[in-house]
Amino acid sequence: MTGDEVTSLADARVRVLARIAGAAARTGRDPALVTLVAVSKTVPAERVRAAVEAGLEVLGENRVQEAAAKIPAVGSGTWHLIGPLQANKARRALELFDVIESVDSIELAERLDRIALEMDRPGVPVLLQVNVDRDPAKAGFDPATLDEAMNRLEALRSLDVRGLMTIGRLAPDPEAARPTFRALQELSARLRAGWPRLGPELSMGMSDDFEAAIEEGATIVRVGRLLFGERPRAA
Ligand SMILES: *Cc1c(COP(=O)(O)O)cnc(C)c1O
Repeated sequence: MTGDEVTSLADARVRVLARIAGAAARTGRDPALVTLVAVSKTVPAERVRAAVEAGLEVLGENRVQEAAAKIPAVGSGTWHLIGPLQANKARRALELFDVIESVDSIELAERLDRIALEMDRPGVPVLLQVNVDRDPAKAGFDPATLDEAMNRLEALRSLDVRGLMTIGRLAPDPEAARPTFRALQELSARLRAGWPRLGPELSMGMSDDFEAAIEEGATIVRVGRLLFGERPRAA
């Protein structure tokens, strides 16, 4: 890790935080209530260490296998899993990650709960990923199934269901994603009225659309390219 690397990541962090503050101010929200998750997928461990040094202490990874090598090599930080989790990697994910944002089925939630109980790890923070637009290319709960899912989640005592997560429409115009973000916020309000155990977190917004997401109520934004630069293709 070089001093230059830390400095340039610290600068990128300050720029993103300023934009977070601007978006929060536009809607009268406290920017301190928005968590910046630095998405470090494909970024080598050495550079992620520089990022932590630069103040980017909350990191996001989308693959358990990549994270299994990287997280111990970085050695610090708070880690969010933001990508699809296969059943056979659930235990490894619980060993590695502090927060699992991508719980996309009741079966996965039940499995995580069972393993967390075995591991004596109560209160695992999770988010439910919602496929707001019912896009066949995306994972997540169909919004229409969430009421039933909430009933079954009630029984899972080892999970702390902190809120909802979604991915907006991937389009160059950030406004394209706004209706998805608004719909997730409305869904959260409606579900929380009936199930107070569902927490208020809303993880939504990436490099191209995090400001719109904050204006629509995001409490967690997941930003990769704006901090680390473009990724190699197909990653
Ligand atoms: C890669 C990824 C991000 C970050 O995307 P950027 O466009 O690099 O900001 C956010 N969320 C998820 C689920 C991702 O897979």
